[in-house]
Amino acid sequence: PLVLGIETSCDETGVGIVRGHELLADAVASSVEEHARFGGVVPEVASRAHLEAMVPTLERACETAGVTLGDVDAIAVTSGPGLAGALLVGVAAAKALALSLGKPLYGVNHLASHVAVDQLEHGALPEPCLAMLVSGGHSSLLRVSDVTGDHDGIVPLGATIDDAAGEAFDKVARLLGLPFPGGPHIDRAAREGSVTIDFPRGLTSRRDLERHRFDFSFSGLKTAVARWVEARERAGEPVPVADVAASFQEAVCDVLVRKAVDAAVTEGVEDILVGGGVAANSRLRVLTEERAAQHGIRVRVPRPGLCTDNGAMVAALGVEMVARGRTPSALNLPADSSQPVTEVLV
Ligand code: ATP
Ligand code: MG
Ligand code: FE
Repeated sequence: PLVLGIETSCDETGVGIVRGHELLADAVASSVEEHARFGGVVPEVASRAHLEAMVPTLERACETAGVTLGDVDAIAVTSGPGLAGALLVGVAAAKALALSLGKPLYGVNHLASHVAVDQLEHGALPEPCLAMLVSGGHSSLLRVSDVTGDHDGIVPLGATIDDAAGEAFDKVARLLGLPFPGGPHIDRAAREGSVTIDFPRGLTSRRDLERHRFDFSFSGLKTAVARWVEARERAGEPVPVADVAASFQEAVCDVLVRKAVDAAVTEGVEDILVGGGVAANSRLRVLTEERAAQHGIRVRVPRPGLCTDNGAMVAALGVEMVARGRTPSALNLPADSSQPVTEVLV
């Protein structure tokens, strides 16, 4: 099927067009520059930017794909989770398209889309698999046996109990004086530095593992980095930004990979699929490959451009909804800012 996907959960207006597993267009307009001076995404600014960008992004996607709206078999849209006002813009646009074209509408979960997108690059999803979802708002380990969510297809095994991994990257970047969003800047800075500081690995003590085996905590790590940097500044010594970045990045990646591999082994699955914006991190990609290989586990990570928010990921999940015969959403589909990951189709 030819599916058009719309994503507006945060600060990216994304329209993707996909035929089966083939990516035809992935148009993204980001308002990230407008948020940069605030050091984080401002919801009202994001909503307005989506409104302005929606139609041009839609037109750009159709032009790139060489299709007209009439060719499309179904419309998929992110219904949640995300910023309420931002989600509403995408949902309203998707409803208008579905209604005017007389095509089915699928309101889908943003997190499941971060998993589904991989099929555009590496073909049919390995199901069951262990999905490690790491983004600006989430850090979760999921057992995925059916990405459309049918028959408890997505089972959450663990999640962050405080900051998300991407959030930690952004906050640490800020205290190192790097621009927002900080993930890519830390990644780049870390390549010039070495792992010289032993920052804490959250929820890995024997006691914590009893209750939080597959959960994460990154706020203690962020505080530890802040204390370390402050101590240097108080002593009047320069802050070795590259080494701090490398050491912080290593701490995050070490915990993520350790727990993901443990979960995959425990669940007896043979594939780990990494998704979300932090999956673009170069060290995370290498470390996951390295440690999974020791257990005979395969790793799939989409290319960086598909890891951050986009419309193609929504279309990719929409294709599975159509292909697996899921019932389309109603035209009064709501936007659900806290849509749980177990609820893939609304
Ligand atoms: P969510 O998907 O949870 O709703 P989001 O939309 O903010 O949140 P994404 O667009 O998936 O998330 O990811 C953005 C996050 O990814 C930011 O926190 C950013 O710093 C981080 N990120 C992007 N590239 C990298 C990288 N190379 N290394 C580490 N983090 C990165
Ligand atoms: Mg974003
Ligand atoms: Fe996302």
